[in-house]
Amino acid sequence: MGQVRSFADQARDFVDRCDVVVVGSGPGGAVVAWQLAEAGRDVVLVEEGPAFQPEDFVTDGAAAIRRLLREDGLRTTRGNLRMPTMQAIALGGGSLVNSAICVRPPRATLDGWCEEFNLRASQLSDLEPHFDAVEAAIGVAATPDEVQGQRNLLFREGCRVLGIEAEPIRRNVRGCQGSGECLTGCRARAKQSTDISLVPRALECGTRVYTSAQVRRVLVRGRRAVGVSGRMVRPLTGEDGPAFRIEARAVVLAAGCIATPVLLERSALAGTSQACGRNLQFHPGVAVMGVFDSPTDPGFGATQGYHSLAFVERGYKIETFWGPPGVLAMRLPGQGLAYKENLARLRHAAVFDAIATVNRSHGRVRLRRGSLAPHLDWSLDPRDLPILADALWTLAKIFFAAGAKSILPGVAGLPEEMHSLDEARVLRTGGFRPEDLLCTGNHVFSTTRMHGDPALGVVDELGRCHGTDNLFVADSGIVPRSPSVNPMLVTMALAHRVAGGVIASV
Ligand SMILES: Cc1cc2nc3c(=O)[nH]c(=O)nc-3n(C[C@H](O)[C@H](O)[C@H](O)COP(=O)(O)OP(=O)(O)OC[C@H]3O[C@@H](n4cnc5c(N)ncnc54)[C@H](O)[C@@H]3O)c2cc1C
Ligand code: SF4
Repeated sequence: MGQVRSFADQARDFVDRCDVVVVGSGPGGAVVAWQLAEAGRDVVLVEEGPAFQPEDFVTDGAAAIRRLLREDGLRTTRGNLRMPTMQAIALGGGSLVNSAICVRPPRATLDGWCEEFNLRASQLSDLEPHFDAVEAAIGVAATPDEVQGQRNLLFREGCRVLGIEAEPIRRNVRGCQGSGECLTGCRARAKQSTDISLVPRALECGTRVYTSAQVRRVLVRGRRAVGVSGRMVRPLTGEDGPAFRIEARAVVLAAGCIATPVLLERSALAGTSQACGRNLQFHPGVAVMGVFDSPTDPGFGATQGYHSLAFVERGYKIETFWGPPGVLAMRLPGQGLAYKENLARLRHAAVFDAIATVNRSHGRVRLRRGSLAPHLDWSLDPRDLPILADALWTLAKIFFAAGAKSILPGVAGLPEEMHSLDEARVLRTGGFRPEDLLCTGNHVFSTTRMHGDPALGVVDELGRCHGTDNLFVADSGIVPRSPSVNPMLVTMALAHRVAGGVIASV
C-alpha cells in the first residue's frame, strides 16, 4: 500500500526514485497513475495542492473559491474580454470542484480529428474502449429523477414544450443527495472525484503520492526526461518548503493545460514544438437566470442534472446549472432595498447555461517571468459571437416555455431583466460586443495538442512529446480542438490511452 505524504510530513529536502513520475492528480494524471500502478510500475504522483476532506469544504462561495482555486479564483484571460477561468489546486484537480458531467464527444467531432490533425486512430471507434474503461472506474450513470430537483426539471419541461430533445446528464457520482454543492466540494463524498476514486486505486498498488509538492522543472538529458524537481509549498499560502527531486525512467505531465506548457517552457522544452502554449481554447459559457412565480427550491437538486445536445451542430451545448448563492447573487440587479428584495427571489430562480464551441477563437499561454503563474492571452473572435447570441436566445425560449415570469440574460447594455420573449428577441439579433457578455471559461484545452506534425502540435497520438523519448503529456492540453461537450471524459479517455504507451515504454 502506497502513502499520501503532505507538507507536514516533509521536514527536509528529499530525493525519490521510481519508474514513472506523474505530475498532477486531476482527471488526466490520476488515470495515468492508476493504470501504471495496476500494470506493476513503480509510480510517484506529485500534486501541488493539498488533499481535502469533506469537513474542509465550506458552502460560502467566496471562501471555497479562495481555498480550492488558483489565484484565489480570480484568474482571468486578457484579450477583448476579461473572462474568469477556474483551475483547482487540490488532490483531484478539477474533478474536486466540477459538476461531474461525463459526456462522450459526438462522433462527428471525433471523426474529424484524424484528418485535421494528421492522426491515425482517434475516431470514436478507436477511443471507445478507453471511454468504457474510464466510465466503469468512476461510476458514470444518468442522473435519476429523485435528485433532479425542480430547477433541473423546469429545463426538461421547457425543452419538452419546444420539442427539443433533452436528457438527464450522465455523471461520475455514487449516492448523490442532490445538494447542488458540486462546485464547492461534495460534502457527501458522492462525487467520484479522482482523489476518492482513482488515486486510492493507485495507492493500493503502491503508488507514493506527494501533495503540496510543486514541480518547477522537468530534468532532461538529451532526448530523455530523467525526472522532475520542485519544492514543497505550504497549503493555502504557497510559502516555500523543502526541495525535492524525483528521478524516473519516464515523466508524465498532467498539470492541466495551463500549467503544463508553462512547465515545458521553464524547462527549456518548449522548443521541441513551436506549438507549445499556443492554440489555447476555451468553451466560453453564458448563463441566463430565470425567475418563476412559485419557489423553485433551488437548494435541492443535482448541480447540473439535465442537458440537451440538440444544438451541438450549431456550436453550443445547453444545460442546467446551480452555484453558490453568494456567487449567483452578483447577477441580481438593484441596490439597497431593491437588491434585498431581489435576493429573496433567488428562491424562485433557476439558471440554464450554454457552453460554446468557438474554433476561430484561439489564444496563448505565456510564461510570466520568474513565476509559474501564466499570462492567458485569449480573445473571442467576433465571428463566433453569433453562436453565443443564438445560445442566449435558445435559453430564453426554454425559460419562457417552462413558465418563467422573467429572465436575467447577463448582457451589458441590454435590460438587466426581460419579462417576455418579445423583449428577449434582442438576444437573437446579438447586437452586442464580446466584452458585453458575462462569460466564464472553465473548459480549457489544446495548449499541448496532439498532432501528427511536430511543427503543429506538441505531442503525438500517444501523448509523447515530439522530439523526446520518454516525456508524455496526459491532460486536457492534448485534446486537439473543442470536443463540443464538457471535456473531462475525453481527457480521461485520452489519458487512458497515453498510459498504455507509457507502460509499453518502461
Ligand atoms: C468549476 C468547474 C466546473 C467544471 N465542470 C465540468 C464538468 O462537469 N464536466 C467536465 O467534463 N468538465 C468540467 N470542468 C472541466 C474539467 O474539470 C477539466 O477539463 C479537467 O479537470 C481537466 O483535467 P486535467 O487533468 O487536464 O487538469 P486539472 O484538473 O487542472 O488537474 C491538474 C492538476 O495538476 C496540479 N498541478 C498544476 N501545476 C502543478 C505543478 N507545477 N506541480 C504539481 N502539480 C501541479 C493541479 O493542482 C491540479 O490538481 C469544470 C471545470 C471547472 C473549473
Ligand atoms: S449534487 Fe451534491 S451530493 Fe450530488 S455530487 Fe454534487 S455535491 Fe455531491
